[in-house]
Amino acid sequence: MITAFDIGGTSIKFGIVDQEGKILFKSSFPSDIHIGGERIIRKIIQQIGLLEKDWQIEGVAVSTAGQIDSHEGMVVHATDNIPNYTGLEIKSMIERETGLPAEVENDVNCTALGEYWKGAARDSNDFLCLTLGTGIGGALFLNGSLYTGDTFGAGEIGHMSLYPGGRPCTCGNSGCYEQYASTSALQRSVDELFKEETDLRHFFEKVRESDIGSLEVFHKWVEDLATGLQSTVHVLNPSLIVVGGGISEQGDLLIQQIIKSVEPKIMPNHRRRLEIVAAEHGNDANLIGAAKHFFDSKHIRK
Ligand SMILES: [Zn+2]
Repeated sequence: MITAFDIGGTSIKFGIVDQEGKILFKSSFPSDIHIGGERIIRKIIQQIGLLEKDWQIEGVAVSTAGQIDSHEGMVVHATDNIPNYTGLEIKSMIERETGLPAEVENDVNCTALGEYWKGAARDSNDFLCLTLGTGIGGALFLNGSLYTGDTFGAGEIGHMSLYPGGRPCTCGNSGCYEQYASTSALQRSVDELFKEETDLRHFFEKVRESDIGSLEVFHKWVEDLATGLQSTVHVLNPSLIVVGGGISEQGDLLIQQIIKSVEPKIMPNHRRRLEIVAAEHGNDANLIGAAKHFFDSKHIRK
């Protein structure tokens, strides 16, 4: 068994995962990302020491935000959300300090790997995994494996241009897809609608009650989401799109509206067999996917 960590914006989730992808134990601690990349990894190393008292750990799998060189286990590029993260050699740092083999992969890629191994994409060799959150993450699974691109940057669909010259984006451009179709973008419209900070669960209750203002905001947001998917589907012709991120807990309400909005936008041959589904593992997918990446890497290296 190995230990897996998922470094997110607010918390670091971790667990013990076995060879079959079963999570035997899980917990979390605050990530305090402002302390910077190196100190975050130090906290993880400390946690590994504690876990080793109770578990026979054979390796460490890390899922994290940022563009990750998954062979070297280092951060190729990260935004300033986590200070001093770009260039950090996570894999060698963990291996040096713990003596355990370690592997690192991007968090959206881990969601895709987790859903492929044990979840909504288990029967699919060509799919797109979309995670809706602060931004929009994308992972491409082609011919049964992750497509990472030349410099591990493939799948950044959150930065497709949706409204050129529109809202400024963290990437330096403006009008990017994620500025309109991420969960944060929805949250912004919802707060404007209710004129105060509003829990998205409350908003979705209103949508279920067919509150007119809420439905309008919901439909407009899904329409933007679907416009991005329209381009993606035409470029990639996937058989499946898995929608992840916390908001996927809205299940059918969300998925059916996406399907309704996407279908008229795409050509008949592209929608012939296209399925759009919610991710099955929620927050656990990244731990399972990081473990999958770890086991596969070890296998390949032997
Ligand atoms: Zn952008």
